[in-house]
Amino acid sequence: MDTMAEAVVDLDAIAHNARTFVERTGSDVMAIVKANGFGHGATRAARAALAGGATWLGVAGATEALALRADGITAPVLIWMYPPGQAFEKVLLAGIDVSVATVEALDAVAEAARATLTVANVHLKLDTGMSRGGALSDDWPALFERASALHREGAVHVRGIWSHLASAEEPDMHGLPEQLDSFDVARRLAADAGLEPEIVHVANSAAALRVPRSRFDLQRVGIGLYGVEPVPGEKHGLRPAMTVRAQVLLTKRVPAGTGVNYGLDYVTSTETTLALVPLGFADGVPRQAAGVAEFLLNGVRCPVAGRVAMDQVVLDVGDLPVRAGDVAVMFGPGDHGEPTVHDWARWAGTNTNDILTGIGARVPRRYEPQP
Ligand SMILES: *Cc1c(COP(=O)(O)O)cnc(C)c1O
Repeated sequence: MDTMAEAVVDLDAIAHNARTFVERTGSDVMAIVKANGFGHGATRAARAALAGGATWLGVAGATEALALRADGITAPVLIWMYPPGQAFEKVLLAGIDVSVATVEALDAVAEAARATLTVANVHLKLDTGMSRGGALSDDWPALFERASALHREGAVHVRGIWSHLASAEEPDMHGLPEQLDSFDVARRLAADAGLEPEIVHVANSAAALRVPRSRFDLQRVGIGLYGVEPVPGEKHGLRPAMTVRAQVLLTKRVPAGTGVNYGLDYVTSTETTLALVPLGFADGVPRQAAGVAEFLLNGVRCPVAGRVAMDQVVLDVGDLPVRAGDVAVMFGPGDHGEPTVHDWARWAGTNTNDILTGIGARVPRRYEPQP
């Protein structure tokens, strides 16, 4: 290792995962590369996903989408979050599709299209029961009416209609059939208003794999793209793309009864070796995981001794031979006994996305193979 710590990103794994979704479902893949590609690097992840057969990219906001374009990515991109009063001119000139859930936003996008002499490609977003983004059913007729008028005028092209599911990764998927029923109603109403969107999309990673009825034309694949199995208890052949590891900086032999790290609340039970690892909560090691978390070091799982500090943790490695420069693995695919993202999520009482997006900017990303 050339650096103190690193996140190794396996781009072939991302391509493989995109391909896996295409093959398993028979529908197209929108690779979700928001939040810096779930921490993997948005542009690199996007290129790998496109190489694996994804045809669309999705990010939350305009800044993320424009950064992809600045890096030379020409594939279709959708954004779905922006503040009131967002200026859409740059977005439209960059050929970025916009999700729209209100008449006001439709009018703003149309205005920007007229000003830039472009046609705004919009995807109408419907709230079918998640109560987060999207238009509530009471507002669908007015939204569809206005979209239809602007479509006829030529300022707007209604390219997509979509919704997001609240419980596809829950064991019982409660509320999900009702959301799909509600979406069917929305599509009928849209058709009645004269709309014929060519791209219908609802499924996230978990829904794409386990609910065929949710697949439609396109599936929005986030966590699965990065190789984390999204359906509890099911394996679909996805390959985890990220490994986070660091060099041991220092080891020391200490007697029984030695307090370790802030608060001294971890006390060694026997004479033991402590190993200092330069990854802390600023790097994404969750503080809440102290007391249960482990790293893999020289083939052995070693517990984190005491609290997680901002820049470092101490491992209690017992009598394991460890030297400065040995490599401690926070998580990886799990093939060699190292913890996985799922382990860290469980230890921290959070979800896998939180662990991946939490890996800090200070940890250099290294890409394999070199792009
Ligand atoms: C983040 C996100 C996704 C990806 O969901 P995964 O469960 O990670 O596959 C899909 N659609 C929208 C709207 C999202 O915000």
